[in-house]
Amino acid sequence: MMLKNTVIAAFLLLSGSSFAQTALKAPVFPVFKSPEAVNVACDEGMNAAKARLRGLEKHKADAGWINAFDRFSAANEDDANDIDFLQYVATSKELRDAAQACSLRWSEFFSSLLQNGKLYKALKAVPTRDAVDREFKRVTMADFEAGGVSLPPAKQARAKQILDQLTALDQAFNKNIRDAGIKVLFTEAELKGVPEAVWKSAPREADGRVVLGVANPVVSSVLRTAESPEARERMWWAKTNEGGQANIELLAQIAQLRHELAGLFGYDNYVDFKLRNRMAHDAKTVWKFLDEVKDTVNASDRADMDVLRQAKSKALGTDRAKTEFKPWDASFYAEIVRRERYQVDQEAFRQYFPSEQALAFVMRVIEKTMGVRYTLIDQAAWAPGVKAYKVSDAASGQAIAQLYVDLYPREGKYGHAAVWGLRNGSTELKRMPMAALVVNLNDKGLTLDEMTTLLHEFGHSVHNNLSLTRHSVQAGTSVVRDFVEAPSQMLEEWVYDAKVLRLMAEVCPNCKLVPDELLAKAVAARDFGKGVDYNRQRLYGAYDLALNGKDTPAPLALWARMEGETPIGYVPGSMFPSRFAHLASDGYGAGYYGYLWSKVIALDMRTAFGDDKLSPVIGMKYRKEVLAQGSQHPAGELVNKFLGRPWNSGAFFADLKR
Ligand SMILES: [Zn+2]
Repeated sequence: MMLKNTVIAAFLLLSGSSFAQTALKAPVFPVFKSPEAVNVACDEGMNAAKARLRGLEKHKADAGWINAFDRFSAANEDDANDIDFLQYVATSKELRDAAQACSLRWSEFFSSLLQNGKLYKALKAVPTRDAVDREFKRVTMADFEAGGVSLPPAKQARAKQILDQLTALDQAFNKNIRDAGIKVLFTEAELKGVPEAVWKSAPREADGRVVLGVANPVVSSVLRTAESPEARERMWWAKTNEGGQANIELLAQIAQLRHELAGLFGYDNYVDFKLRNRMAHDAKTVWKFLDEVKDTVNASDRADMDVLRQAKSKALGTDRAKTEFKPWDASFYAEIVRRERYQVDQEAFRQYFPSEQALAFVMRVIEKTMGVRYTLIDQAAWAPGVKAYKVSDAASGQAIAQLYVDLYPREGKYGHAAVWGLRNGSTELKRMPMAALVVNLNDKGLTLDEMTTLLHEFGHSVHNNLSLTRHSVQAGTSVVRDFVEAPSQMLEEWVYDAKVLRLMAEVCPNCKLVPDELLAKAVAARDFGKGVDYNRQRLYGAYDLALNGKDTPAPLALWARMEGETPIGYVPGSMFPSRFAHLASDGYGAGYYGYLWSKVIALDMRTAFGDDKLSPVIGMKYRKEVLAQGSQHPAGELVNKFLGRPWNSGAFFADLKR
């Protein structure tokens, strides 16, 4: 779901006659054997960055300056990103802690960089060749300005303080979730209904009870399939309150600091400040959009809830009006309705999508559509089992990118699904992009929903890998946050297409293909529950906006009120925002609405493929006009050029009403 851009808008080395060029590193993930090795690499990297910065500060604001800046940025990526990434995936807590400490040092470096008056002055004076350079200048200047460089000295100092604090609070928020190490105990009887693949090989207590963690696939399996309401409830509470009261307090601090930061720039709320350069532009536009979504889905949310309540009262033989419906009932009864009404059982898909072959299938979809090849290469990474791939252009045979894939859960690993763009590519720097895909698949195969997630995340890695921008700071996923999900969300649609699924035969001749009949049912079932799902996403986006609004309300009271206004209601004592990491993140804070906004673009772009989602002609056009362009032109322009018309929300609202 999430996309991680490790380093803010990573920054600069110098080229030109008077300085030797620093060689950029090959796209290979370094192996760190000990926390000491991380510390040493951290010191070396930081020292090198400081030396590079001194060089760049002396560089004249001439025609070579942009390239020098971009080289500086790329070199910093090389030194900072791998270590930053380790805090999420390293195999020992000591390594993760060392990486996190290093990452904080880099954050400070980058935030002080954005306040560097010498660079800002050079940037303002630098000549531009064309639209790409002008866009570089516009966006980079805005990044600097957001760091406070154009503020008076006292305000500038305060802005830096706040930005550093916000970074530390975001890290603390994530650490509270990661290190909570929440375990939930179940007797085998309580797990009745839950597929054995989820719990059979899990650790046991001395008394035989099964010990389950709260990684997303485990939680969703238990909530969907456990017949025992007590078991579902226990899992729901464990996950919902994962970050605890400590994280609620962090959110309050974060909202206060953001509000103060916006004030330094003359804004009376953080949302308008944050959105000023995004597609949506301001809070008013987003509220209008979210309200339209609410008006469109409210009735279907209630209707869906009625169906679920009815299913529960039928199953329990209770009076419908008196049947209490709880959040931990929702997935379970939705699954029952899907099975009864549409005869779709998510678990039934695992046999058709063995985990390794599912990955190969996803790669095949991209190969077929976008004209590339994935080749497994032998390369050690951060944990045993992580695979490395060379990505090459099918037509020329040239290697164009590197991709790492970390498929299965392990202790201390990032528990969701995300892609890290470790290196941003650049044609001018002859720099190859490199990404890491991190998911937590069940090794017994994937459900259709999990396949959708895999394809979604893979879409982010493709955006990184197929980038072909002149400057690395404009590469692939460096696009505005309310567009960045669109390429991935578009690919989600591919999973529900029989023709696409038949590609499985090319990567796994022995796999049984998903029967057309099962898929047709899944397509019908997909529309059920849409009201609930979209209203939920709408709620998340609205909460994130309200939390960062003019009056910085208390986080939990605000959540209780807003969730309380939805049909499912609020359960006293629950703290969903405590586990909602997007809220604390610099990139997604005040930007969660971007998932729905991107979806508008995704569904509009999808229309270009018509009935043939594997069309290599449209696929190549899309690769060239959208993916390869990164952020070297505004997102709306790229989409309009690809579509050959201005984008609109027609396909999105039609889908909501379906
Ligand atoms: Zn995503």
